Amino acid sequence: MAATRAIHLQTEVPGPRSRAIVERKERVIAKPMSLYLPIVAAEGRGSTLTDVDGNTYIDFTGGVGCLNVGHAHPKVVEAVQEQAARFLHTDFTMIPYEVGVTLAERLLAVAPFTGPAKAAFFNAGTEAVENAVKFARAYTGRPALIAFEGGFHGRTLLSLSLTSKTHPVAAENVAAIVLEPVQGEAGFVVAPPEFITGVRAICDRHGIVLIVDEVQTGFGRTGRMFGIEHYGVEPDLITVAKSIAAGLPLSGVLGKAEIMDAPGDSAVGGTFVGNPVAQAAALAVLDVFEDEGLVDRAERIGETIHGRMLGWQERHPQIGDVRGLGAMLALEYVRNPTTKEPAPELATQVAEAAAQRGLLLLKAGTYSNCNRVLCPLVITDSELDEALAAWEEALCGAPLRVCPCPESNAR
Ligand code: PLP
Repeated sequence: MAATRAIHLQTEVPGPRSRAIVERKERVIAKPMSLYLPIVAAEGRGSTLTDVDGNTYIDFTGGVGCLNVGHAHPKVVEAVQEQAARFLHTDFTMIPYEVGVTLAERLLAVAPFTGPAKAAFFNAGTEAVENAVKFARAYTGRPALIAFEGGFHGRTLLSLSLTSKTHPVAAENVAAIVLEPVQGEAGFVVAPPEFITGVRAICDRHGIVLIVDEVQTGFGRTGRMFGIEHYGVEPDLITVAKSIAAGLPLSGVLGKAEIMDAPGDSAVGGTFVGNPVAQAAALAVLDVFEDEGLVDRAERIGETIHGRMLGWQERHPQIGDVRGLGAMLALEYVRNPTTKEPAPELATQVAEAAAQRGLLLLKAGTYSNCNRVLCPLVITDSELDEALAAWEEALCGAPLRVCPCPESNAR
């Protein structure tokens, strides 16, 4: 029996209700909160999102990587409702709650630390990064930080300053080196193994803390629970956020106990350090990962998508690169296959053409010339097939100026 289609479009995209709400939004929401897609969400279930016009899409944006267990997973919803009905907040450092302690125990049990480790919880990924830096500075007594070209660690001022700036520093002044196993915003650039082992060796030689930012790579996205597990390297600190709580704001730093214990009393904290409702969601996320084998599923999904993408690359010379790890995959578009001149307009055209066919796709890349996969890992085989068919059609249907496909010329 043929599977029912997940994609269902009943108006033009965006539809009239979405357009009306977006018009209201322009009047009252600050301009820098500009929209990527003018489609207004009404309901999410698993891998699908339905808009206010009743159009259902397959969601490869995954709330920008927050929805590895999918939209509104029933176990997450139940855990959230149950915790919300008990209490919403106390401030963990004033009156603690068990859910926060249990979450630390369970995350540390799956994190790649061989010795004693501890956790601290926050809200956004950028806060986790800022606090990881605080732990590292307190532990080393040093001020300087090293981050990498193409790295992205958030939009608060310290995290922003970690993004691609060059100031030579003496190794003895360096508190931490911060890196992503796969650079997310730069367009899913996978760190070579010798780079990661080399950085680890430099950290060991100079007493520098290695902070691995797993905000986007964590929670199974790369086919391992944490991306760094591909490299057989033990980090000192790991930052987590995004998919940790299935869309509720929660982030954390996990790390070697002696580093995590280094700052003085109350030197790290905040009113909302680890909201109990978000933490209840995070415990449910860990259950879903175990029950549904989502780490292995990410690997399988990745193999399927990667295979299809390589086929597209053979037919479309503007696909300059297919890259990623596990289910963290991206296509990079170029104007010219030899010079590899970036083609950001193609990433935009393909994303728009895909939305018209019921697939929501994000862009990425230093030059905004990639489309990336951040689909829920609970996606079914038939939904995946439908989504990839829509992407494939979008590649031919987008006005790719130099596309050799006979179909694209017919459109
Ligand atoms: N670190 C990485 C690797 C990210 O991809 C992001 C966000 O995209 C952040 C940190 C910042 O997280 P947040 O947006 O939750 O502050």
